[in-house]
Amino acid sequence: MTSDRKPPKFIISGAGIIGPLLANALKARNIPFVILERDTSLESREKSGWAITLHYALEAFKNLVPKQKMDPLYDSQVRPNFHKSDSGNFKYINASTGEVVVCIPPSSRIRVRREQIRRVLLDGLEVEWDSKVESIDYHDDLVSVTCSNGKQYTGDVLIGCDGSNSITRRLIDPKEGGLYQLPIRFCGARVQLNKEEFDRISNHFDPLLFQGTIPGTNTFFWYSALATPEYTKAPDLYYAQVNLSWNVPETDEPFETQEQKANALKKHSQGLSPELSWLVDRAVQNPEELMEIKLCDWEKVDWDDHDGKVLLALDSLHPMTMYRGSACNEGILDVAELVKQLDLHLQGLFSWKDAVANYRNSVQERARQAVLLSRQACLDAHDMSKIKPNSTSPLLSVRKSK
Ligand SMILES: Cc1cc2nc3c(=O)[nH]c(=O)nc-3n(C[C@H](O)[C@H](O)[C@H](O)COP(=O)(O)OP(=O)(O)OC[C@H]3O[C@@H](n4cnc5c(N)ncnc54)[C@H](O)[C@@H]3O)c2cc1C
Repeated sequence: MTSDRKPPKFIISGAGIIGPLLANALKARNIPFVILERDTSLESREKSGWAITLHYALEAFKNLVPKQKMDPLYDSQVRPNFHKSDSGNFKYINASTGEVVVCIPPSSRIRVRREQIRRVLLDGLEVEWDSKVESIDYHDDLVSVTCSNGKQYTGDVLIGCDGSNSITRRLIDPKEGGLYQLPIRFCGARVQLNKEEFDRISNHFDPLLFQGTIPGTNTFFWYSALATPEYTKAPDLYYAQVNLSWNVPETDEPFETQEQKANALKKHSQGLSPELSWLVDRAVQNPEELMEIKLCDWEKVDWDDHDGKVLLALDSLHPMTMYRGSACNEGILDVAELVKQLDLHLQGLFSWKDAVANYRNSVQERARQAVLLSRQACLDAHDMSKIKPNSTSPLLSVRKSK
């Protein structure tokens, strides 16, 4: 990668959230890129989608995408137009009694369906589907990748946007690129509700999302609205996300069948308020729909950039647990920082190597803290002694970046 002002050509590995977000910013600057994605199509994994709260990075997000994508972004909220009446409060409850223990201070936010913002971001972009990156080669100023379909792509910069188990990270750091797995198991499903049920939860607890812990067992409960008839296109069809997580011994065996997941959820829902336990009963009715999410992180947040030829962002760089709803917000800040450095490089203020060094320094300091806070929040969610008013736990503190 030379230090002149010629725009570098980017190879983006991964068309999740952050790859397409970066691609929008590059497209606006006429910077060439190619997006490689291992899935065969956009629809491949949409059924297992979840919702994401954009809060402290919402403004940065808006600055990175073209104006015409703003309305579709707001249309991807889990409840239509919710931002117009949202108080921004986030409730943490005693999941046995249903009482609110802590109300996390309000922030400006929107809660959106992941699959829908991904569609919005990918609109107008070309993706090389079925292109799983398998290896990386370096030649003087260039970098090339080879995909499982045999195709090779060469550019100035490869950026790993390929998720928490990032192949890019593991290839550039084979010794230490692996993840740390927390001793906690997380499992749940998208459940189908009717209007009466959806409204009942909404009125009794919260219209958007809430979380809680069962005092007797330290099991964590998570509810999030996911879709209303405006999205499902059926008059009485609503979706919500219902999850439980619980402490496990380090030696716990992985689930081998979907039935085992259902049995574990039933067991760990004991002690849950009857106002909530029926949601878990609903989730386990279809064991094949249950999804386990491994709770892992990577606190190193550092990598060999091969003289500015390889970068990482979001889950590839700082995978973290979702107990503070920070990961995607931090990733948006990654892209904002990278684009800022890229602009300064193109104005001739820095060589590309210096621009990359600035990106690394800024991202490392900020994201490492977010990884550790999220890890602590995850542990605290399974320890009722930490759930109290005026708690200093990062689980219950204001969501903001360093
Ligand atoms: C239940 C849940 C709730 C969450 N809530 C929030 C929240 O409220 N707020 C928040 O900020 N964050 C939240 N997050 C985190 C957020 O969803 C993730 O940080 C974000 O989706 C990661 O985006 P990404 O683009 O880095 O990775 P991904 O979305 O995982 O995308 C990676 C892409 O790379 C592709 N890929 C993988 N390997 C290869 C390869 N070898 N070659 C080519 N392509 C490859 C994958 O197929 C995938 O499409 C939540 C996460 C979960 C699980």
